[in-house]
Amino acid sequence: MPASTMKAAVLREYLAPLSVEEVPRPRASGRFEVVVKIVGSGICHTDVHVWRGEAEAVLDVRPPIILGHEPSGIVWEVGEGVPERFKPGTPVLVCASGFCAEEDEYTMEGESQLCRKPEWPGLSRRPGSYAEYMHVPHYKYLIPAHGLEDLPAASLLTDAGVTAYRAVKKAKERVKPDDYVVVVGLGGVGLFGLQLAKRLLNANVIGVDVKEEKLDFAAKVARLGDSDHLINASRAERIYDEIMMMTGGRGVRAVLDFVGLESEMEQYLRALDVKGIYVVVGLGSPFGSRVPSLHLILGERAITGVLWGSCRDVAELAGLARAGVVDYRSIVTARVGLEGASDALERLDRGEVLGRQIIDLSGGS
Ligand SMILES: [Zn+2]
Repeated sequence: MPASTMKAAVLREYLAPLSVEEVPRPRASGRFEVVVKIVGSGICHTDVHVWRGEAEAVLDVRPPIILGHEPSGIVWEVGEGVPERFKPGTPVLVCASGFCAEEDEYTMEGESQLCRKPEWPGLSRRPGSYAEYMHVPHYKYLIPAHGLEDLPAASLLTDAGVTAYRAVKKAKERVKPDDYVVVVGLGGVGLFGLQLAKRLLNANVIGVDVKEEKLDFAAKVARLGDSDHLINASRAERIYDEIMMMTGGRGVRAVLDFVGLESEMEQYLRALDVKGIYVVVGLGSPFGSRVPSLHLILGERAITGVLWGSCRDVAELAGLARAGVVDYRSIVTARVGLEGASDALERLDRGEVLGRQIIDLSGGS
């Protein structure tokens, strides 16, 4: 392969298999720029939305595009001004949520995932990480990954993991040890949510999903105990009644909703105790829900959203992973090469995936 090209899985047409082809390899030609050799890239459900052509309504993304916004890798090439701690060979997580076209008040606050002009790789015109190399416009979007023993799997920390981490942080002020927290949806993000709610909030968790195998998998990955519960929502008559029974009538102090289906939200909101918080992460029913004002007012309950996570959040979560507080490795259930990315995406679309699949290029592609 000539040095000036690389292999990438390119979305050329909606709903068609990704095309693995040789494309120009990016260069770190400008000041502070970096090229990362991709080692891991998580396959996220948002990629399915892009592949299906459903993301155009909210994001400036359309074919041809290289998908992938959950990357880890090794610094390959650096532009002028990149500090020594990111010299070539350094293992890094790429904080794709931070990529912005310009500085504004949110980037200044360190919350660049909320910036006015996001340029998220794989979710905008900027190429993503389903490729051997990826261009990073500034080293400030890199987080050193020393000590994370499974670098391909650690890619999960930059999206699935950090999204759940931020949701748990939002709930933190309102949840006391031994309170109950409901985690709705036990895919890749929800599995992080369960673990973090247990270990950071010391809460009793109630995990909800519609698939029995996802519930079984979650019990294992999150090492649930006697005070934790699982609900199969496809079988439960009334999720609300189940939750009230499990909590001895107390209800829950937080709902971490990684699905966001309007039809279900009312039950979880009703199960929310006084001073509880409902954190919406999944985009199941955008702009569909009515606001239950009286319920919110009477118990000073809160509803909030979570968008991904900041680069600071990713760095904190990487620390928790290093310390063994969060187990990211067991969430990975399949490792594919670039050629396998398309099938992996389709499996995810069909709802056949437990945990998270990744593109693992650690052995070369
Ligand atoms: Zn994602």
